[in-house]
Order: sequence, then C-alpha cells, then structure tokens
Amino acid sequence: MKIGVVKERAPNERRVALVPDALKSLIAAGAEILIEQGAGDGAAIPDRLYADAGARTVTRDELYREADVVVRVQKPDGPDVDSLRAGQAVIGLLQPLIDPGLMSRLASKKVTSISLDAIPRTLSRAQSMDALSSQANVGGYKAVLIAANVYGRYFPLLTTAAGTAKPANVLILGIGVAGLQAIGTARRLGAVVSAYDVRPETAEQAQSLGAKFVKLKTAIDATGAGGYARELTPDERAAQQADLNEVIGNQDVVITTAQVPGRKPPVLVTAEAVRGMRSGSVIVDMAASALGGNCELSKTGETITTDNGVIIVSPENLPATMPASSSQFYARNISSLLLNMVKAGALALDFEEEVTKATVITHGGAVVSEATRKLLAPAGGNA
Ligand code: NAD
Repeated sequence: MKIGVVKERAPNERRVALVPDALKSLIAAGAEILIEQGAGDGAAIPDRLYADAGARTVTRDELYREADVVVRVQKPDGPDVDSLRAGQAVIGLLQPLIDPGLMSRLASKKVTSISLDAIPRTLSRAQSMDALSSQANVGGYKAVLIAANVYGRYFPLLTTAAGTAKPANVLILGIGVAGLQAIGTARRLGAVVSAYDVRPETAEQAQSLGAKFVKLKTAIDATGAGGYARELTPDERAAQQADLNEVIGNQDVVITTAQVPGRKPPVLVTAEAVRGMRSGSVIVDMAASALGGNCELSKTGETITTDNGVIIVSPENLPATMPASSSQFYARNISSLLLNMVKAGALALDFEEEVTKATVITHGGAVVSEATRKLLAPAGGNA
C-alpha cells in the first residue's frame, strides 16, 4: 500500500499530514510512503528528513498516479479533486457536514473519503485519532499567546522597584478542549482566570485548572448530545446575555471558544458588552469564521480596535500558525486511524467497526455516511 502525503495548498495552511517520526509505524505495517516535494516546508520539515525516515520524494503528478491513499490536512480543492481517481482513498479533515457537495463529487469519482472530523469522540480507543481535539488544543494555547501579545500590560502580578503591576483578569467563554487549554495557558502566565460554559459539568474541569467558574444569576444547563452543547432558547439567550455583560465589563482579556455543532457560533459578547469594556482590553474570538463568531463585532481574519479602544482579534486557522506542533499531533491522529484500518499491508474497511463506520464518508461510488446523505437528499438525492 502506498500512502501519499500532499503539500497543502490552502492559503496560510502550513501544516502537513504526516511528519517523519510518524512514518516508522506505517512502514512497519507494510506501507510505502510518498512525499510530495516540499510538503513539509510550511512546518520547517525538509524533504531530506522524510527521506531519512524512509519516504520517497515525488512530484504531485507521481503522487496522484501511484498512491493508494492520499493523506492531507484540509479538504481537497478543485485541482486536487480532479487529480483523485477511482479506487483511491483520501483522508483528512474533509468537513463532510459543511461541504456535502464535495462528498457527492468524490463519490461519483468512486474515491473513498475518510474524514478525521467524524471520529466518535467519546470512544476512548479513538482518542489518539481525535484531530479536532489535538488541533483545538493548539488553538487554545495560541489564542492566549496572541492575547498576551496584544494586551499592553502584564498578565502576572509583578512587584518591582519601579512599581507593581496588577495581574490581568482573563475570562474564557466555552470550556471545551480549546477553552481548557486556554485556561491552563493563561494561568501559567500568571493571569487571574475565570471561565464560563453552558454545560455545568465543565465547572469542576475549569476549577481543577485554577480558574474560577462563573455562575450566572440564571442557571442554564444546555448539555446536548455526545458531550456537546445544544443551542440556547431565545429566553435562555437573553438571560445569559444580560448576566454576561456584567461579567465581561470587569475583564481585561476575553477569549471565546464556544461552538454548537452544525450551527452558527452563539454570540456571547455583544456590541453593548464591548462598549462596557475598558480601553486597552482585548478579545480573541476563536470561534470566528465565515459563519460569524462569538463576538458581535468580530471581523474574521482581522484585528480591529473599537471606538472605545477595545482590541478584537479574530484569527483564522490558529493551528496552522504553530505548524510543527499541530502537524506532529495531527500525524499521530492520522497514523492511528490508518493503522486501525490497515490489514496485511492494505486498507481493509470493516464497516461493522465503529471508527470505520463513522469516518468513511464515501465508498464504492456512494455516499455511505448517513449524516452526509441526509444533507444531500433535499438537493435532489445526489447520494
Ligand atoms: P466545541 O468546540 O463544540 O465547543 C466549545 C465549548 O463551547 C463547549 O464546551 C460548549 O459547551 C461551549 N458552548 C456552546 N455554546 C455555549 C454558550 N452559549 N455559552 C457558553 N459556552 C457554550 O467543544 P469541543 O471542545 O469540541 O468539546 C466538545 C465535547 O467533546 C466536550 O464535552 C469534550 O469534553 C468532549 N470531548 C470528549 C472526548 C473524549 O471523551 N475522549 C474527547 C474530546 C472532546
């Protein structure tokens, strides 16, 4: 079985799907590794290091001609979809629920698509394959570093001969994987950290990392399926917003990470709340995307300063800004997934097995994922 590692071509994407350290176990399982020239450049991994680890460097055309399995980080774009051929498999963060049309195209080309973002996250044996978590972890860490960098004061309490610096008050909204990493990182920098989430079980997790859990006057339990949050009702949202506005006004830094699967991110920091913040305060909106963000004033991909001097940073693709670490973790996720599916040196899909059942989106000319098929059905039953 030949596994081909492509060079990512999406703008600002510096990650790579496999790193040299991840090759050993795949080669031991009978795979040959093909690396597209320069695939690791963005993560500062030269072709030579892949060659030393046993890979063969190839051109893009050779890769698509020879590989049985193409591994990547982001979903393939036009030319990459064109280059994939029948019988070939592609593995990456394919976002089938956001772009079901791509899945339909891959199915009609008889490509097997396997999406790492469809891993059953509560299955403990799948934890090493959970790329959403590994990448959110990097994002949560980097969001705090960005905030500290933009904030014009110290994070820790500092007593010097020239005076005393008060510690920064940092609020983390959304205590999932990214939020927990953000709490830990802000605490390590010496900030006074508080955190809030609509899933009450997160209170203990936040406290164990040294954050104060913010209890709003209106108790909301929005625990949804699979450990995720559900969308709030309009009444819950109004109550939450009024309470949160008060809390936000006392913060120097707010980092937002709140997501609800398949929905627009909830607005947690309204324009009114931003108006109540002090000049020089910082908001980092990790949820900002084309769908909107957690802050009403966020402009995705930009940093803006409001009339009252609040700096709002809305970074896109934070994991790609730390490409060596994010690629190292991603490579572990993808090699664990592959090793789970490889038997006698070939990809052997067992649809009775939970991870395979959840992650294989297209196979044998059809969209086999039920969740993706449902999204395609109203558009004319493409699947
Ligand atoms: P996510 O990115 O979907 O959302 C981030 C956080 O935002 C969540 O904690 C969510 O509750 C919160 N949120 C949503 N709406 C909100 C609102 N209106 N106000 C405040 N907060 C709001 O979450 P994630 O980081 O992907 O994690 C999702 C779940 O998956 C968590 O329960 C996590 O523990 C779980 N998980 C489990 C495993 C495992 O068991 N192996 C592995 C990874 C993640």
